[in-house]
Amino acid sequence: MADHVVTLNAGSSSVKFALYAADEEWPRLIVSGRVEGLGAKPRFHVAVVGGRASDIPLPPKLTHKKAIAAIFEWIEDAYPGAAVSAIGHRVVHGGLRFASPVIIDAETLAQLRELISLAPLHQPHNLAGIEGACEAFPHVPQVACFDTAFHRGHAFVDDAYALPYSYYERGLRRFGFHGLSYEYIARRLRAIDPIHAEGGVIVAHLGNGASLCAMKGGRSIATTMGFSALEGLPMGTRCGQIDPGLLLYLLQSEATAPEELSRLLYERSGLLGLSGVSHDMRALEASKEPRAQAAIAYFIHRVKIEIAALTAVIGGLDALVFTAGIGERSPRIRAGVVEGLGWLGLALDAAANARDDSLISVSQSRIPIFVTPTDEEAMIARHTIETAGLSETVR
Ligand code: AMP
Repeated sequence: MADHVVTLNAGSSSVKFALYAADEEWPRLIVSGRVEGLGAKPRFHVAVVGGRASDIPLPPKLTHKKAIAAIFEWIEDAYPGAAVSAIGHRVVHGGLRFASPVIIDAETLAQLRELISLAPLHQPHNLAGIEGACEAFPHVPQVACFDTAFHRGHAFVDDAYALPYSYYERGLRRFGFHGLSYEYIARRLRAIDPIHAEGGVIVAHLGNGASLCAMKGGRSIATTMGFSALEGLPMGTRCGQIDPGLLLYLLQSEATAPEELSRLLYERSGLLGLSGVSHDMRALEASKEPRAQAAIAYFIHRVKIEIAALTAVIGGLDALVFTAGIGERSPRIRAGVVEGLGWLGLALDAAANARDDSLISVSQSRIPIFVTPTDEEAMIARHTIETAGLSETVR
């Protein structure tokens, strides 16, 4: 019987899961779902591949552990033959130590706890997910897959801040995030266009969180996010690039409390802060408010600047890939970004772009522009199969 793996992605108030069969080169998705509203009124939603979506009743005020127990109970009931051979977890921060996925044992878990201060909004929930799954399945291998790992090979100039060198040695570096998405796209691109995939490629992961990654030969060379997921592009509610002097001003001259500053930068800025309308690009595109349109213009402007900067880092561009919610589904944003970059050799096929085609550059263009859906869960499942040693059964 085929091995099955479950992926878990535990956030502050939700746990996403997916069940895969490990019987093909890429794991085959069977069902995915999420428990949302933890701590308040939880909702449990599942979507079966090729089947129906449904909502399952849950008791109120669930903890992460109870939500995970409910997920596994539901899987066991719905798929009694699908013995779970390994569980893969999304972990936002792997610090300096973890440059690839790892089997979780007591020592690894302790090392991951040490990284909580680097990602206080995400890491504790990721670890709660791991603890819940370890309790439910103590004898099943659990694999941690990191958002930072794909970027760990960066050169010093793309890894450091110009603080005293001892800060670099202490690990205060440009870690970068969205690594599971970039790794998935790098592997997909190898299948779609192996020649360009070996060259200089920029991937624009434009979703609620947004960043760019410049790759060569499918490896990350540089990325716009840094020490935290605040740096780089403006996002749904995060500010992106900002002058640290402005933060000093807010702390010192306006006596803003650190917690308030954190809320400002993570939750009240970005598209939401600029527009005053929404964090959601679809809502902004539909809005007639001038500030919503100004927020879109700012977003496009910053993406263009960062594409040009990353092109310099990798010494020229061979392909551009758009992915994630905005990148996959917003012709307007893609057109806005590419429009200003004709001098780089980018040329958009307007009709293909309007259709969200997978190739949206004009046929005579030297640089292909792709729209490629990302799938971080599939990447976690694949890593889990490989790291837990189940891949022999696939080949
Ligand atoms: P993600 O975080 O990858 O799920 O992406 C969420 C973002 O994608 C939100 O800002 C959505 O408004 C945006 N998005 C999704 N579909 C569309 C669409 N058809 N047009 C514009 N933006 C979209």
